Amino acid sequence: MTARRPAAKVPFVLDFLGRAYPEAGILLAYRNPFQLLVATVLAAQCTDERVNRVTPGLFRDYPDPRALAAAPQEAVEEVVRPTGFYRNKAKAIRGLAAAIEARHGGSVPGTMESLTELPGVGRKTASILLGACFGACALPVDTHVGRVSYRLGLTASKDPVKIEQDLAAAVPKEKWWEFATRLGWHGRRICVARRPKCSECGLASVCPKNGVR
Ligand code: SF4
Repeated sequence: MTARRPAAKVPFVLDFLGRAYPEAGILLAYRNPFQLLVATVLAAQCTDERVNRVTPGLFRDYPDPRALAAAPQEAVEEVVRPTGFYRNKAKAIRGLAAAIEARHGGSVPGTMESLTELPGVGRKTASILLGACFGACALPVDTHVGRVSYRLGLTASKDPVKIEQDLAAAVPKEKWWEFATRLGWHGRRICVARRPKCSECGLASVCPKNGVR
């Protein structure tokens, strides 16, 4: 089965992912788009679990963009310190909050263009927001989605933008969000970065990298 054209294996992959990870979704805890946006920034180089331990206190003290934008840098640094790179992250989320307040009256915008115009917000983060909070057909390519897609032969690229284009061409649009979130879960649980668990993998029969180290 490994000789299939890349797009030909997509129905098999979708079917497997649907059975294996029916509940897949965003692991970051959030109650509104602002909280998810901030949590996504804090999740860079950090686990979602650690971010989820920090954000309740952060949003209790600074519940909206106006409050976070006005917060002292040092105070925010102290709260987000456990997520690593805390000085840069504190600066980034304060700047993001200020831009949302100034440009959008405190409401996170709901388009790719306006989201990616916010400081520090790239395509991946914008796609997460659009899919999770605005019900859009979004295809966020994070490190896990990129890695598993490459190993499965769904893309020959390691560039997230090109990977997104390849996946968007191969996966039906209405399935983009579930595909990305479920493939991400597979990457976290089975097709991990080092020593993927190929012997436990339900996609092994269609994977050119099955057993390859
Ligand atoms: S067979 Fe191995 S490399 Fe291929 S998707 Fe499964 S875990 Fe990843």
